[in-house]
Amino acid sequence: MGDSHLSRRSLFTAVTVLALGGRARAEVEPRAHVWPNGARAAVSLTYDDGLNSQLDNAVPELKRLGLKATFFLTADNAHWRLADWEALARGGNEVANHTMTHPCALAGYTAGRFETAEIDRMQGYLDRNFGPGRERTFAYPCGYLGLGHGGRHRRFARYRRVLERDGVVAARTTAGGPNRPEDVVADPLRLHAFEPTYEGDGVAAAMRYLNETVSRGGWAILVFHEVVPEWRGEGDASVASHNKILTRIAQPDLWCAPMGQVFDYVESRWRRRA
Ligand SMILES: [Zn+2]
Repeated sequence: MGDSHLSRRSLFTAVTVLALGGRARAEVEPRAHVWPNGARAAVSLTYDDGLNSQLDNAVPELKRLGLKATFFLTADNAHWRLADWEALARGGNEVANHTMTHPCALAGYTAGRFETAEIDRMQGYLDRNFGPGRERTFAYPCGYLGLGHGGRHRRFARYRRVLERDGVVAARTTAGGPNRPEDVVADPLRLHAFEPTYEGDGVAAAMRYLNETVSRGGWAILVFHEVVPEWRGEGDASVASHNKILTRIAQPDLWCAPMGQVFDYVESRWRRRA
């Protein structure tokens, strides 16, 4: 891995020299240069639900490796340790909207009631505690994309309108492969993501997903819930697996940044081309 990265950097240097010598830059610019710092792909670490185990077990490893992440908070959980979440946000991490109470069954909601009780109210909670006026990202509770009654497309269109009205610029699901920048720009409220330890503890699935993202030059979004000493079931990641995955992510072929930051970068760079 290290060797191939070095060789790509050497290639880039050679290409730059050629470009300075008069060759058209667009013809020779290597794919690796699409992402900041010469990285070959982007990755965002996301942590859902505002759980204490993330503060206690994930944050120390993020700090040790110098990585910044996105924390999708629900007010119901976050209020227990609000000062810790505020400190995390001041340190350059993103805090974002995962609704007030994390409802999973949304068939019984009207758009208006869901918006008032869960989305707009959570935006207000984030404004009050983390600073107002920012466009925010969102993660769908339980990965469900339907709001109210009707067919699948109608329910998602209803959900999408609520998010757009309340200033959500990008939203993350819990399924799908690496994100292609073109798809992100075309459909920012349906970003793919992968929960690497959902089926069982271990790092193999995460490594496959990250390597595939690198080979495609895309954007990986990883989802974590509880980060605990021992994996007990769905939704957990063991501290050992979590830390191994983060160590891989800290390698220079990946640009790791919070979801909102990568989204801004993709939008500014790819929207011009679209
Ligand atoms: Zn959740």
